[in-house]
Amino acid sequence: MRDGFVIKEGIACAPAIVFVNTPVRVEKTKITAPEVSSEIALYLEAREKTRVYLENEMAKTSSKDAREFMETSVMFLMDPYVEKKITDLIKSDLLSAESAIHHCYNSFVQELLDNHDPFIMHNEYEIRNLAEHIIITLKRKRPPIPVITGDCIFVANNLTPAQLLTVDNSHIKGVILEDGNTNSHMAIVLRSLNIPTIFNVENASHIIKNGMNVLMDAYANKIYLNPLEELIWSVKKHARERIDSGNSNIVTPLIAQYKTTRSGERIEVLANIGSLSEIQDLKKFPSSGIGLFRTEFLFMNHTQDPTEDEQFECYRKIVESLPDLFTITFRTFDFSADKLPLYLSKPVHYNCTTGTDEDNAILNDILTTQLRALMRASVFGHQMRIMFPMAAEYEDFVHLLDLYQETRESLIREGIKPGHIKIGVMIETPAAAIMSESLASLVDFFSIGTNDLTHYTETCSREFATKHNNELSPAVVRLIALASENAHKAGIPVSICGEIVHEQKYLPLLYALGIRSFSVAPFYLSSMLYAIHTLDVRIPRDFRERIRNIRTRQDVIDLSANILKSPLPVKNP
Ligand code: PEP
Ligand code: MG
Repeated sequence: MRDGFVIKEGIACAPAIVFVNTPVRVEKTKITAPEVSSEIALYLEAREKTRVYLENEMAKTSSKDAREFMETSVMFLMDPYVEKKITDLIKSDLLSAESAIHHCYNSFVQELLDNHDPFIMHNEYEIRNLAEHIIITLKRKRPPIPVITGDCIFVANNLTPAQLLTVDNSHIKGVILEDGNTNSHMAIVLRSLNIPTIFNVENASHIIKNGMNVLMDAYANKIYLNPLEELIWSVKKHARERIDSGNSNIVTPLIAQYKTTRSGERIEVLANIGSLSEIQDLKKFPSSGIGLFRTEFLFMNHTQDPTEDEQFECYRKIVESLPDLFTITFRTFDFSADKLPLYLSKPVHYNCTTGTDEDNAILNDILTTQLRALMRASVFGHQMRIMFPMAAEYEDFVHLLDLYQETRESLIREGIKPGHIKIGVMIETPAAAIMSESLASLVDFFSIGTNDLTHYTETCSREFATKHNNELSPAVVRLIALASENAHKAGIPVSICGEIVHEQKYLPLLYALGIRSFSVAPFYLSSMLYAIHTLDVRIPRDFRERIRNIRTRQDVIDLSANILKSPLPVKNP
């Protein structure tokens, strides 16, 4: 049998369960005018059932990746743009619900692929699966997935994450598929379930018969049918040696534009933006979105506070000018001494716990207006994130999040329902990094700002820190490690957006510290992506101890270099 490619390493030996997943056929295409309303009702009913099904599965699964897959699916499922497209196709083109769904999802995916939408590039397979899932629900018949009662190797021509998650997968010791790709959520889910998996094995569902004993060596990328005891013993022995020699700790990111590591984690490369003109340029660069929008620069030349409507128009323009699925992370105004607009006479501090009543009233006022404008703009895009800078104490963050919640509720009372917004905080004060364990339970994400983190940790001026921003200090590394660890423990994403990020000598170290999202100035996007493509890191088992042992800036650089398996490219494209 031709070898496929390994998705998750491991050894498994068990009888095969073979499943042939027949693709859904869209049969009924045209309807008559009187059938329009019943076809729309049919679509909405199937969509609702699919949503309930996905949300139930989401609640049941303990896998973060599986949850992410289902969240993405629900997001696409409930997308108002998709709903409008489908109902329009039923009404105007008199298409049946199933063919309208089929057409809509196909053209939607194509439209986004044509725009080189990074998110869609990563999620194309899942969106197509989703369309299939709704059509199957609508037809009220599903391919009979085999009932699994004992240990098995699951063999199929293809399989969707939703199908895998509906069977009792605790008995699945290995998976062999005829299709699949390394970046798919199917691959991610299988890795997170820790099931040895080989994809792309030609004709597997024909060659392997139900009940046949199958030995998978998903280290050596080999499949043996009806193996003798001796062979099983020898394959297992070699696998044991591999694990003992520590090779299983090697992390080799795969080559793909929006990267996925071997462990299934996606690496995001995002842009730091400060003006509308940079947004236009952004379309030329490979990026998954904006990791830091420094909103304070938008209104620098204004002589009066920008009104809510003025801000709303500006944010809406930004949201609308980028692909719907781009992540856009707006940071609320950060008016420090070096970034004061004409209409302000002094910095606005986020540390409300220690601020005067007067300062706090100014902060609340400015933030409420900005948050209202951002939330109103969020209706025009699906991936808005808002983050607060510069806070230090836990109570500062609680206050900011309360303010966010109150603003949201008052908008809802006025009849405006904000879009789906993720709310996060910047970890850019030592206090925030130290308190990151408690903070992680309050928010959806962290973004580490090494510029200010360095400046406050090293008690040097911001200018000095900026001049030396090509060096990470040991203390700052420890704070990044702490914040990243706490984000991982809480299951929230953590990105990094200080200037240090484009210094590629630190990339292996930041990667090993668990950072999977890097936000850099647009100028550095291409070189970052290139460096990530070629990143080949071995995380030593005693990595944490080595972090604790770093004493000097040179130790930091050495550690980062030592965990590289092969050197990063000297010259970037
Ligand atoms: C930082 O402090 O690292 C950061 C990204 O914010 P800014 O440079 O805008 O202060
Ligand atoms: Mg900062």
